[in-house]
Amino acid sequence: MSFLRTRLPQIARSVSLVGRQAPYVARNYSSMTYSGPSVTDTPPTSLHSFTEEELMLKDTVARFAREVVQPRVRAMDEAEVMDKEIINSMFENGLMGLETEADLGGAECSFTAAILAVEELAKIDPSISALCDIHNTLTNTVIRKWGNKDLKEKYLTRLATDTVGSFCISEAGAGSDAFALQTRAEDKGDHYVLNGGKMWISNSGEADIFVVFANADPSKGYKGITAFIVEKEWGVEIAKKEKKLGIRSSSTCVLNFDDVKVPKENVLGEVGQGYKYAIDSLNEGRIGIAAQMIGAAQGAYEIALPYMFERKQFGKPIGSFQAMQHQFAQVACEIEAAKLMTYNAARLKEEGKPFVMEAAMAKFVAAKVAERATSYAVEWMGGNGFVRETGVEKFYRDAKIGSIYEGTNNMQLETIAKIISTKYK
Ligand SMILES: Cc1cc2nc3c(=O)[nH]c(=O)nc-3n(C[C@H](O)[C@H](O)[C@H](O)COP(=O)(O)OP(=O)(O)OC[C@H]3O[C@@H](n4cnc5c(N)ncnc54)[C@H](O)[C@@H]3O)c2cc1C
Repeated sequence: MSFLRTRLPQIARSVSLVGRQAPYVARNYSSMTYSGPSVTDTPPTSLHSFTEEELMLKDTVARFAREVVQPRVRAMDEAEVMDKEIINSMFENGLMGLETEADLGGAECSFTAAILAVEELAKIDPSISALCDIHNTLTNTVIRKWGNKDLKEKYLTRLATDTVGSFCISEAGAGSDAFALQTRAEDKGDHYVLNGGKMWISNSGEADIFVVFANADPSKGYKGITAFIVEKEWGVEIAKKEKKLGIRSSSTCVLNFDDVKVPKENVLGEVGQGYKYAIDSLNEGRIGIAAQMIGAAQGAYEIALPYMFERKQFGKPIGSFQAMQHQFAQVACEIEAAKLMTYNAARLKEEGKPFVMEAAMAKFVAAKVAERATSYAVEWMGGNGFVRETGVEKFYRDAKIGSIYEGTNNMQLETIAKIISTKYK
């Protein structure tokens, strides 16, 4: 820990988090080529090998989740509201600027460390994990990659220390077909004027900074899509907060932009390149959703397994019946497979190797595994699984989102099929 404090005094807080520049810097990360085996200079290691810093972060986040988040999970789910104190604690503990550079107030962790943090949070509450994941792997990442120095200094610092961010692409008519978006950005000389609406925007109930994708030149089709950093106080209207099946304390809102003036310096990257930034961010963001799903699967599993060895029927622990043993053994295999796929996709991204297909595969498999694992966990606990008190039914509800956001299961399969096909064309 002293290592951390000397290197990153700005994040030595009540629960110290780990920060260090990843040894592998992502390059060519958006390559869509088919990846195969590669030679390494160092002896290969198992996919359960992590740096000391990554493991320290994982342990610290697990403790944070148990001690700070867990006592409030049920109340937040019932109220469908995220506890502000938890959000503040997330900032205080460096969880909202995981990969952000230390001199901008971030923890400067590796991507894999961020993925481990998302997983650990999801083991306790997939809603808090969604907040952390989307804020870090989408909102912060798109600004880190394409923001100029001024935008980074102005916004990444706030996003790491005290301000929640949202990433806004989807619209009523633009979900899987995201680039059919209709929000317009009109060039008015020294500023743009945004008009339109967004749907299902995560974290938007708490956010003050929005990365908004709007079309600045519809005559160019999707090549007119441009990314803007928009502050709430410029006129972003939260039109409606959705009531949902799962991840209920994570806010999901409808947004309206009615003549919202955005200064030209708030264009993120280049005009007309927004579609590239969106694809690129979502490609890596999917690894975060996979991590959220393996966390949800494990969270339910870890509640159900002890129960199965305490609960007796027919004079024996229900976990000793072979039918039950085969089910939990199979689910354990599936969780392990999804984990390895997720960690592998994260490492590929860090190493600058093609990772898009592996990320889509990891998200697809992890979402399926989470659905199955959480469903079994409810069943294994019988009536006690079905009632809210034990917390396992919440994981079942929360797991469903994995097959919808950041690309539905079908969209992951489209991506995978497209990349495989390149090999045979
Ligand atoms: C809780 C929640 C949080 C979200 N957070 C955000 C956020 O922060 N930012 C954001 O921008 N968006 C967000 N979204 C939106 C999310 O990304 C979209 O809901 C998702 O991409 C699917 O779009 P859709 O809902 O319009 O479904 P549709 O695109 O209408 O899809 C409906 C069904 O049709 C299938 N389908 C569609 N097209 C095809 C095709 N070509 N081939 C085969 N099947 C197809 C889909 O697989 C799906 O099963 C969120 C959504 C939810 C529910």
